[in-house]
Amino acid sequence: MDTQRFIADRVKGIDASGIRRVFDLAAKLKDPINFSIGQPDFDVPDVIKDAACEAIRAGKNTYTQTQGMPAMRASVTKRLAEEFPRTLGRGGPDTLDSETGLLITSGVSGALVLALLCTVGPGDEVVIPDPYFVMYKHLVTLAGATAVYLDTYPDFAVTAERLEPVLTERTKLVLFNTPSNPTGIVASQKVCKQVIELCERENVLLISDEIYDEFCYEKASRDGGVWCPSPLSESPNALLLRGYSKTYGMTGWRLGYAAGPRAVVEQMTKLQQYSFVCAPSMVQVAGAMALGVDMSGHVDAYRHKRDRVVERLSPHYNLSVPGGAFYAFPEVPKRLGLSATQFVEKAIEKSLLMIPGSVFSKRDTHFRISYACDDAMLERGLDVLVELAR
Ligand code: PMP
Repeated sequence: MDTQRFIADRVKGIDASGIRRVFDLAAKLKDPINFSIGQPDFDVPDVIKDAACEAIRAGKNTYTQTQGMPAMRASVTKRLAEEFPRTLGRGGPDTLDSETGLLITSGVSGALVLALLCTVGPGDEVVIPDPYFVMYKHLVTLAGATAVYLDTYPDFAVTAERLEPVLTERTKLVLFNTPSNPTGIVASQKVCKQVIELCERENVLLISDEIYDEFCYEKASRDGGVWCPSPLSESPNALLLRGYSKTYGMTGWRLGYAAGPRAVVEQMTKLQQYSFVCAPSMVQVAGAMALGVDMSGHVDAYRHKRDRVVERLSPHYNLSVPGGAFYAFPEVPKRLGLSATQFVEKAIEKSLLMIPGSVFSKRDTHFRISYACDDAMLERGLDVLVELAR
């Protein structure tokens, strides 16, 4: 049987070789120093685990409403109204503005799939700042739209000034990610404001992927609290995506949400009904209480790891100081004459695993390290990097 005949063109266009190569090499290592992992090294807090276990025992194992369980929706609504009182929360305390829709999703990945399938198709252009989170380009391909890459080297700032020239009549979406994977760069509030204003003026939808919002080491005061900068505090006309995977170490639990223009969120809800159906029920029960759990100890620990990375690598590498997430994206020293892929292969010979920039970018000049590991492993990996730069 010719099984290739069963493979649709839309998935044939998706190439997953880059990251797989690193993991194939990694599988051969005994005790690797692993700087390649995109998830926290801490476990889910016990209170959240208990809530999920109790939910299973209490029989909360059925489908939920597509848009999410009432308690889960209420907890997100409360949080958004508190954080964005002038935009999403104009409806008053603990309520969202009547023009804002909310959908509980199976992770931010689930929200991204729905958002792209509901908003773009053939002929539409989607701006993806480069370097980018790997999933973006593949989902744009899946949706049949065209990715337009916005080069943000060397400082990785996605400013309105850089964005404006790449917008065309066909541009429908801009994918904005702050704090960023893979660079850790956090957009300032001023940049967020300028970018959303530009998108509104040009009638382009801004998707703001803020999955790392809690891992923001440069939070600032606004709207009565201390928050990570966001375009949503300037305007309700962007689609906000947030998740629980990183903040609570719940990567395997699959929980996130999308909030933004009602017309878009309604279409996403319709599509969720015929695809994911709902986010996992017991995870929603646990998620409803998760927003009240204090994760600041873990965030402080990661801030300290970030400081160590900057302290030890800055003398040897060009490094834009990451203000959030748990990644850094240094440049391979030019005098070594190596591509990032070659450099990463050299590091693997010394048992250090990292991801070459080519996985996240049109360029192959930088590499991503994830510092979400214990302090001893972090120091070992930094030793190897200092040695490799010599
Ligand atoms: N967006 C970004 C920028 C990410 O780094 C990730 C996870 N690596 C996701 C979205 C997806 O996260 P999840 O589906 O686990 O919520």
